[in-house]
Amino acid sequence: TVRTRIAPSPTGFLHLGTARTALYSWAYARHHGGQFVLRIEDTDVARSTQDSVDQILASMRWLGLSYDEGPVYQMQRLARYHAVVNQMLAAGTAYKCWCSPDELDAMREAQKARGEKTGYDGRWRPAPGKVLPAVPDGVQPVVRFANPPDGIVTWNDLVKGPISISNTEIDDLIILRPDGVPTYNFAVVVDDWDMGITHVFRGDEHINNTPWQINIFNALGAPLPQFGHCPVILGEDGQKLSKRRGAVSVTAYEENGYLPEAMLNYLARLGWSHGDEELFSLDQMVAWFDGSHLSKSPAQWDAAKLSWVNAHYIKQADDARLAGLVAAQLAGRGVQAPADARLAAMCALFKDRCNTTVDLADWLQMYFAPVTPSADDLAAHLTDAVRPALVGLRDRLANLADGAWDKAAIAQALKDTLAEHKLKMPQLAMPLRALLCGRTQTPSVDAVVALFERRTVLERLQHV
Ligand code: GLU
Repeated sequence: TVRTRIAPSPTGFLHLGTARTALYSWAYARHHGGQFVLRIEDTDVARSTQDSVDQILASMRWLGLSYDEGPVYQMQRLARYHAVVNQMLAAGTAYKCWCSPDELDAMREAQKARGEKTGYDGRWRPAPGKVLPAVPDGVQPVVRFANPPDGIVTWNDLVKGPISISNTEIDDLIILRPDGVPTYNFAVVVDDWDMGITHVFRGDEHINNTPWQINIFNALGAPLPQFGHCPVILGEDGQKLSKRRGAVSVTAYEENGYLPEAMLNYLARLGWSHGDEELFSLDQMVAWFDGSHLSKSPAQWDAAKLSWVNAHYIKQADDARLAGLVAAQLAGRGVQAPADARLAAMCALFKDRCNTTVDLADWLQMYFAPVTPSADDLAAHLTDAVRPALVGLRDRLANLADGAWDKAAIAQALKDTLAEHKLKMPQLAMPLRALLCGRTQTPSVDAVVALFERRTVLERLQHV
């Protein structure tokens, strides 16, 4: 069975690039009826935090990328790595190295001076007839992988096609540090092997690691997974997407009012295509995602397109769900708005003009917090000719029977007021909008007014 995984390092938030490879891994597993595993690669003890783990798990939950196993934590698997290291030491595919950092620096400097490629020179690597240096006292060795000295590592990358690297290009990498913590390239192999991973999708910054990993898989007699290396995501300026260039965490998009289904749809298209389809559900993606049509070249972030995708999903979203999201946005601004049927009705009325739930909150705040009409709007629309009509309208609204506060009754009150004062609708609607909403462009005014509480409307018309 197909088994895929995502293996973030908990040294920060869930990056958009990782979210995208998580989506590809997840969709590939689902497409094949396989499993998807979450692994936390926390061997960088100094930089890993629980806070980051929590954020990553929360982002995965928010995106809805459900995993069948995990989270598995590498730091809870140290005994297993040590067992494999011992096995390799015994088999001669790994060896101990007592080089001090100073010695390694000197090695590198000397290589540079000679104009050679820098890398570990193999001085502790055992060989028949070779005399190794004397083991220094009181120093903990590292363990190095005995990389094959020659030959070529080749794999057919799911994204990039065939890739070959000569073993003469790569040195004997450290697999276990003196403190007993394994390095990434080793732990990742033991884990992918133990977890039965068949397909690895990850960022192409790992392409240079893959030959080592393949060699370690082979040294262990473990079956090789297939690898797919996705190109980086570029920012709108063509540079690598980074924190300095705007939001790169999944969390930031959640906070900024994007819907998870929009993020997934957008991220899916950023590096993969199915014909000309731009908008598709996750189920459709699962049906289509067979690992083909992954793009070889970097994708460029396009905030305007993401907005457009999000607007599409906002329009489709259930109004009660939007109400919950908008209530949370408003609460964040200190504006209390119950996520009830009235808020849902507001979402229904305004969502067509919103790209995000932040936009929706910007609109709906007027229902729950004071507004400040602009002096220009008031000067333009609140003319002496209109004032008596607004007073008349206010009286009509005040006199509506309790329980008669609805769009039809308000439309009737507006109509009667217009007739009495011989005005046209815009003459009344514009100042009414300015006073109630703090702006003059809104959906149909009767519908907008009906969603206010009556006392709010009467209050805002009081000083006309
Ligand atoms: N911890 C690595 C990263 O976050 C995982 C790479 C991989 O998928 O092998 O980049």
